[in-house]
Amino acid sequence: MTLPPLDRSTIWPYEDGQPGRFYYQRNGNPVVAAAEEALGALDGGHAVLFPSGTGAAIGLVLSTLEPGSTVALADGAYYGTGVAFAALGRWGLRHVEYDQTGPPPADADLVWAEAPSNPLLTLPDLDAAAAHPAPLLVDSTAATPVHLRPLEHGADYALHSATKFLGGHHDVLLGVVVCRRAEDAERIGAFRNSTGNVPAPDPAWLLLRSLETLELRVRRQTETAAELARRLAVHPHVERVRYPGLGALISFDVAGGQEAAVRVETGTARIVNATSLGGTTTTLETRTRWEGDRIPANLVRLSVGVEDVERLWDDLEQALARA
Ligand code: PLP
Repeated sequence: MTLPPLDRSTIWPYEDGQPGRFYYQRNGNPVVAAAEEALGALDGGHAVLFPSGTGAAIGLVLSTLEPGSTVALADGAYYGTGVAFAALGRWGLRHVEYDQTGPPPADADLVWAEAPSNPLLTLPDLDAAAAHPAPLLVDSTAATPVHLRPLEHGADYALHSATKFLGGHHDVLLGVVVCRRAEDAERIGAFRNSTGNVPAPDPAWLLLRSLETLELRVRRQTETAAELARRLAVHPHVERVRYPGLGALISFDVAGGQEAAVRVETGTARIVNATSLGGTTTTLETRTRWEGDRIPANLVRLSVGVEDVERLWDDLEQALARA
């Protein structure tokens, strides 16, 4: 794939006195359009790009639901998604959590699954979710299209925080909704443009750069994660490992409670103690600082990058020795 020029224009001349395909950046620009084409192809649908994953979630909800609607959100889904929905409570959005390993509640107007959930790493029952009459959205940020294409499993929308594996280098903040139907993408895109929740060309260009290596990165990250999960599972200072068998996210509970877990997260030499996930650089953090008692206090989330597996294991082992 050849990357398009990074066109930062906010205006393009009219053609014969009329707006052409691109005329004002908020209503569309060539770099974002190229990124949407690539993202649509990856998930087998029609992509609408947003400035962040959270922006994508809000854009989808506001453009497709009505005040008073109920979203059934997978429990254990990304903490910030529930926070964003709660912020829309003042505007009449209701959200309830459900166990995504079973069927969604009957009264849902939108079913919101996460594959796998971050950070508890459960996988949704996609057949049960797709059988529900409400539209189904699958946040497949952690699976990526390399491992899962939700639209092929009956979902109406796939959502990604492109900040994570799609961007892949901890230098892009973006989000995307990929719709099964072109008319949904048109409606969501038109709402996005008229409300100004639009992505800029620079991150979209970096995303296009990253997509060239997506499969390479994710396959390598997954292979390394599977090996680290196996080793962590038999480590004496680890109480429990959650790894769903795909992707590069692992969470593990450190024996000895929260203080021991904090000693581990602050004790690594190469692995970066930072939030977020999906980059080529491995990161880890305890999640209780953000999520409180929603998750175990000794849970450490590890996002595996592309470094050598033995070097990563050496680093984890010496950090776990401090637990
Ligand atoms: N969905 C998942 C699964 C995430 O992990 C995140 C962020 O961590 C988001 C959505 C939100 O994305 P962003 O931070 O790009 O707004």
